[in-house]
Amino acid sequence: MKVKSPLEIYNFLPRTNCKECGYETCMSFASHILDRSAKVTDCKPLVRDAEKDSKAKEKLEKLLELTAPEIAEVVIGVGSSAIKIGGEEVLHRHELTFFNPTAFFYDVWDSLDDKKIDERCDRVVSYKKFYVGKYLTLDGFAVRCTSNDPKRYAEVVKKVAGYGKPMVLIALNPECMKAALDVCAEQRPLIYAATEGNWKEFLKLALDYKVPVVLRAKDLNLLKSLAVTFKSAGVKDIVLDPVTEPLGEGLQGTFERVIQLRRKAILDGDKDVAYPIMVTPIAAWLIEGDEVTKSYWEAVIAGIFIVKYADAMIFHSLDQHVVMPTLTLRFNIYTDPRTPVQVAPGLREINNPTPDDPVMITTNFALTYYTVENDLGSAKIRAWLLVLNTEGICVEASVAGGKFTASKVKELINETKIAEKVKHRYLIIPGLAARLQGSIEDETGWKVLVGPIDSGRIKGWMEKNWPPKK
Ligand code: SF4
Repeated sequence: MKVKSPLEIYNFLPRTNCKECGYETCMSFASHILDRSAKVTDCKPLVRDAEKDSKAKEKLEKLLELTAPEIAEVVIGVGSSAIKIGGEEVLHRHELTFFNPTAFFYDVWDSLDDKKIDERCDRVVSYKKFYVGKYLTLDGFAVRCTSNDPKRYAEVVKKVAGYGKPMVLIALNPECMKAALDVCAEQRPLIYAATEGNWKEFLKLALDYKVPVVLRAKDLNLLKSLAVTFKSAGVKDIVLDPVTEPLGEGLQGTFERVIQLRRKAILDGDKDVAYPIMVTPIAAWLIEGDEVTKSYWEAVIAGIFIVKYADAMIFHSLDQHVVMPTLTLRFNIYTDPRTPVQVAPGLREINNPTPDDPVMITTNFALTYYTVENDLGSAKIRAWLLVLNTEGICVEASVAGGKFTASKVKELINETKIAEKVKHRYLIIPGLAARLQGSIEDETGWKVLVGPIDSGRIKGWMEKNWPPKK
């Protein structure tokens, strides 16, 4: 985004504070455009004026240009399952945040029999993993044409389209791609890939069917020239694939190409390469070796490029040792560093506690909270768990930063009325908050026991320390 302050946006707005956008004032709306929680076109008076008057139209177009993300945003799919890729503003997450998580597509191919295709699709659709208060899921399918038969490919694409997830269509033969688009273009698949050899046919397909397209070339000058050609022909939704090579110097070269593309786009402002980047960890299956080796490298390649700077990826393996770490890494890279992931403070009852069961306290940093809850739950410990509002900061940092204090603990005890639910006055605090033991005792009048540093050791700690010796 070229603008850096709400005032620069405000000057383009009607400045009537009419509230049609849902915000109290034009200035407030401008701030929300800046942090990307509102869209310019949400200002209906601005859009209406642009429809009637050419000067207003120019003004709107200028504002759209100034507020467009540094990396173009591309939508794959339609409706509620559509995903956005790209749209990034910065090279490093801590400079602002990353906006659109790397999209994960899992391959199916048309030489598989229909039963196996369904099995694979079912696995993708049904996969979900609970992590830090959210379900992590897989995004869509990459449907590969291995038969080179347009009819069979179209049949399989139609079948996979029935699962309602976004798709990447992978066919170098334009005839096969055309047959597939005939049955699913309205679902807005991403077509893969226009190369030096077939770009004319793919350009026509992208224009005729109005679908996003991947351009693929290892030579970055060629890739840029393809992008310029497609853009000047009227294709707006472009994704760049600088070719993923899986091992050694090849992998190093891939890394350098990806970095160069993103640096050129964001640091040099080169709009000709400011598009989402496709990386294909599935390339690991070209390595010599057994399936474990290949899938291991698939996870490694994915890990490297989730961090830098893949916007979409194509996978083969659906094994847990590939899916879980990649999903978890993606989740962590794409959380917003400006707002820590947190849960509501208050009192939680773990495993139906009785009045004799222990009272423990932790912070509302989501990762800490869910780890503690999970450790207590799986160890079958009954407990009253107080969740302190530390503004989503973990135990050690919140103690150091004055967010976890004796007076806040006292307030929480009072608010939750925990004293009315238990017969004792013992509070177990995390080992990392040990230094607060005395001050919490003084402030609350409760006896404070210092628990383990790691909630994974709570079971052993309870065996030795609960119930407390009088
Ligand atoms: Fe201002 Fe437009 Fe919002 Fe009205 S709709 S308050 S003019 S930004």
